[in-house]
Amino acid sequence: MTTALTILAIVISLGALAVSWLLGLRSARAAEKSEQHAKASAHAAERVARAEVDRDHEMYKPAQIGPESFVVEQNPRTNEEDLFCIFTPTRSYRISGESMNGSSPMALSMPLFNPAGVQVKVFIDVLNPIRDMSSKTELRLRFWPPADVDDRDLWTCRCERPLGSHEAPHWEMTVPVATPSQPGKTNVRWG
Ligand SMILES: [Zn+2]
Repeated sequence: MTTALTILAIVISLGALAVSWLLGLRSARAAEKSEQHAKASAHAAERVARAEVDRDHEMYKPAQIGPESFVVEQNPRTNEEDLFCIFTPTRSYRISGESMNGSSPMALSMPLFNPAGVQVKVFIDVLNPIRDMSSKTELRLRFWPPADVDDRDLWTCRCERPLGSHEAPHWEMTVPVATPSQPGKTNVRWG
């Protein structure tokens, strides 16, 4: 009788053990599942944040400079006709660049910091009396958000591309050089 009771007690406690093990397993699974959910929603949030950063990066991108930006002006001192690229950034940028003559680059003379709404006028080439068409084929421009030392119009792009103007460009732009037609006149704006 005692033995039977002992066996019964053992069976019951084994049963209880099995139940608690199963419950434990289930709660472990539930924990694992909720961890997976948390991870998935963290990933989703990360994706959304990255999409926002990418969208901002595109939005902050400088507007493409077109052929209408190339202007011929007569130098009153030398009477030469010079080709300039004139554009007005809608956002403040640090900008540097070169004009290309075939494969040989020549640094463009322009301010590093260019505030929004202020016209930038970059000398490109001497035309008449030396040549009718510019010898420059294209401009290669590099853009960055302003640096702290620029001390005005500060903004930044939160993407992971470089922010320092001594580093690789944040945005790059290639501008084919256009030589305005000059029907015997100077200061003709070509459009
Ligand atoms: Zn960016």
